[in-house]
Amino acid sequence: MKTIKCGICPICGSSCGLIVELENGLITKITGDKEDPHSRGYICPKGRSLIYQHNDPDRILKPKRRSGDSWADVSWESALDDISRRFAHIQRRYGKDAVAVYAGDGSTHSYETLFSLAAFVSVLGIKNLYSSNSIDALPRLLASKLLYGSSGMLPVPDVKRTGYLLILGANPVVTNGSVMTAPGFSRYISDIQKRGGKVVVIDPRKNETALKADEHHFIRPETDAVFLLTVINVIFEERLDKPGRLKKFLKGYEEFKSRARGFTPERASGVTGIPTEEIRRIAREFSLAPSAVCYGRMGTCAQSFGTTASMLIDILNIITGNLDRPGGAMFTTPAIDMSAIMSALGMSGSFAKKPHASQRAAGLQRRYALRGLCRGDRKPERYSSADCRGRQPCGRAASHCPHRPRLLTEHQIDMRPCAACRALALCPLRLSE
Ligand code: SF4
Repeated sequence: MKTIKCGICPICGSSCGLIVELENGLITKITGDKEDPHSRGYICPKGRSLIYQHNDPDRILKPKRRSGDSWADVSWESALDDISRRFAHIQRRYGKDAVAVYAGDGSTHSYETLFSLAAFVSVLGIKNLYSSNSIDALPRLLASKLLYGSSGMLPVPDVKRTGYLLILGANPVVTNGSVMTAPGFSRYISDIQKRGGKVVVIDPRKNETALKADEHHFIRPETDAVFLLTVINVIFEERLDKPGRLKKFLKGYEEFKSRARGFTPERASGVTGIPTEEIRRIAREFSLAPSAVCYGRMGTCAQSFGTTASMLIDILNIITGNLDRPGGAMFTTPAIDMSAIMSALGMSGSFAKKPHASQRAAGLQRRYALRGLCRGDRKPERYSSADCRGRQPCGRAASHCPHRPRLLTEHQIDMRPCAACRALALCPLRLSE
């Protein structure tokens, strides 16, 4: 018998809506769900290939235990008992940290796994927890921890409403918007252009996104922080900064302003390779756009100044009043707010101060490596589009879908170049001198 089901692709954070056709328990066809308000019918070849994974006769559906050269099915109970015994044995014999956990991208896109992972790691008492964040996102999480007090507070570009999108170190046409959940990103670019807006890409490579953008500027690798701080300084110097309602939430605004002084386009041009006048023009256009948002991803994280660059992306949005407003970078309002829950449990992100800490990414000084669980990290939740329609204005309650301003508290955003982030003052200087 033929049945049709709606689902969400579990492979990556884009969470594309799927229409799955089944016959006698086997998938016969997978297509994009045109009625899914998020992905609007888009799926990539990986999503389409789920059909082969599901129907593969060699797919492992039960736990197996090795015996010599062969494998035998065992019950879940027996497998779990065996694994627990072995964990306990290894930890007794070699110490707690002889065990490590890796949470793959797919597994962390479900609330069930996130909650059970936290409990699992806490029971094991280990510091070794790895995930895709270990490779490409820890600077972003640390920036959130320093700015907002929680590594789970991740502002997301409101690409559906923005009038100016500045992209650094990212290629959303290929990635479908990492930490932004924007499948079929080419359409978002053309929508911005149709609205009279502009998309500008700053990247050492003329990538697929740059090919569709209005402008692309080559930048010398690892100089994003210098570029951003210079853009910010131009905005301050030309008195184009307008944090507006955000002002009361900010701590250290004037101090930051004085730190940015001296980052002139003339100095930055030699470091970044972007002409002086272009830097000035981008600063003016960004600050004068009716709404604008700066977005950076792996390229701005996986570099020597990743934390600095990640902070500066947010600070550019903040000083132009584009944080927490439609068309800017917005905090999300998911059905289950993981960062709020984690914060209530005292888990707002833990960055170890020991050189041997276990989660380190390029761009982080060793002492800022993340210890143990990436606490408070927010991952997209998945609904079938049928489930979620009507829950949020866009019809879907994915946690990466920005809708309305979040309630910030007074002085919540800390812009001070504090001891914990001397990088803010030092790294770009080191580059430019
Ligand atoms: S882009 Fe969409 S279809 Fe492709 S893997 Fe990610 S969620 Fe699946």
